[in-house]
Amino acid sequence: MRLIWFRNDLRCHSHTPLQRALAAGEPVIALYVLCPGQWDRHGVAPLRRWYVLESLLELGHTLASRGVDLHVIDGGDFEGTVGVVTDFVRQHNITDVFCNREYPLNELNRDRAVARELEAEGVRIHGFDDGVLVPPRSLNTGKGTPYTVFTAYKRRWDQWMEEYGPQVPEAPRWPRRRGRFVGHDTVDGALSALSLGQAPRALWLPGEDAAVRRLKVFVEEHIGDYKRLRDVPAETATSELSVALSAGTLAPAEAWRAARMAMRDPAAREGAVTWIGELAWRDFYRQILHRFPALAKGAPFRPETRLLRWNDNEAHFAAWCNGRTGYPLVDAAMRQLVSTGWMHNRLRMLTAMFLTKHLFIDWRRGERFFMQHLIDGDFAANNGGWQWSASTGTDAAPYFRVFSPVRQSRRFDPEGRFIARYVTELAELDNNAIHEPWKQPLLTGDYPPPLVPHEGVKQRVEAAFRAARDAW
Ligand code: FAD
Repeated sequence: MRLIWFRNDLRCHSHTPLQRALAAGEPVIALYVLCPGQWDRHGVAPLRRWYVLESLLELGHTLASRGVDLHVIDGGDFEGTVGVVTDFVRQHNITDVFCNREYPLNELNRDRAVARELEAEGVRIHGFDDGVLVPPRSLNTGKGTPYTVFTAYKRRWDQWMEEYGPQVPEAPRWPRRRGRFVGHDTVDGALSALSLGQAPRALWLPGEDAAVRRLKVFVEEHIGDYKRLRDVPAETATSELSVALSAGTLAPAEAWRAARMAMRDPAAREGAVTWIGELAWRDFYRQILHRFPALAKGAPFRPETRLLRWNDNEAHFAAWCNGRTGYPLVDAAMRQLVSTGWMHNRLRMLTAMFLTKHLFIDWRRGERFFMQHLIDGDFAANNGGWQWSASTGTDAAPYFRVFSPVRQSRRFDPEGRFIARYVTELAELDNNAIHEPWKQPLLTGDYPPPLVPHEGVKQRVEAAFRAARDAW
């Protein structure tokens, strides 16, 4: 008997472990281990848990209709998972386990522990890399070290993709039988334990079918304008596929292939090339996390930044979380995050920089708050984005670069359409006033004045980074 162990790859398309496990025509069974304890430890957002659980339900029904039994078992956390998987393998006389590799430290430790137990008993483990386009150990600099600067990484990434590209696995040889979905009630139980309002749920469609449809619509209707509009949060210009890519309801290879097809249309070419660049960022942060495992323990990439003396102002942190900093675009972004579970990339950079530069609050607090709310919360991308914004990471924004919240607002939301959607108390202000409401003598309502002035921030941040560097 062969086993497919599903993790962050909740789909049947472009799934090499599934295809390989079924290829020999031997009996195949599938397993997913729930880890609510792990989710709790990492503060995973209820909305993300909901997305994963609903996608798992869809997967279980799809597999059953195609003749593969899916078993879902609650393992508690990763430690519990090791016991669940090894017991399951023994009970079902499994000879071969097929799965996609995962690269963060806890996941690696879990998989190593499972492999140690099973390989000692003669079970073969077959690992694949469908979660990325370029596996994290494939690219090295001329000195044999990992790339830590994106532009150089991207050049090699492009070459690698030209040469090897992602292989399309053949269609799975589905068995001719009806399968069972065992543990459906475990998923239902986990779903009903979530405390989650209806509103954000209505905005998202879980599952592989919806992800593949969304990719199709994005590539047919929006990819051509991606380069021009991707920084404008009032537009629906980006794919919003991050949740599908991070939970694996969409294969990155499928996304890449669709964008490559779009490149054949001269009108869409530039947008598609830019979008593929974002898929490379995704791989970049995965290889960084894999090759610098201390990042998984909260360490900054630049060691000297450990000495930064962050500000613990709780009132400032609360104002940022609640979208009440007095800077309209920052506040609109934070309200978008909390009410929808997603935030536009330009605004993730802006709000992260605001927290870490204007308020000088530790980036780890912001990173955790994002995880607690993002439907696409993904450790590698979130950590990479936070450390970039805080100037503590690889390829980080230089510490002297500080976004001006007003200039960003005027540039990327010139008519204030995005602000008006989320900061409704400012919706009546005109295109000019909405960016700096504190300059309006007659402003009514309770919108706060700016928490801190923009002037002087750059100098303070420079001094703090210089002091940390000198003390190192
Ligand atoms: P698109 O613009 O359509 O891009 C396509 C895909 O490329 C995305 O779905 C995503 O998988 C990938 N991608 C795009 N930009 C990046 C990037 N900068 N880094 C890594 N991958 C990227 N992304 C997450 O998936 N999960 C997170 O938890 C996350 N946290 C972030 C925190 C901060 C502070 C910052 C600055 C960025 C973060 N990002 C995160 C990256 C990026 O903001 C989101 O991937 C993007 O906004 C998702 O929207 P989209 O799917 O429409 O992206």
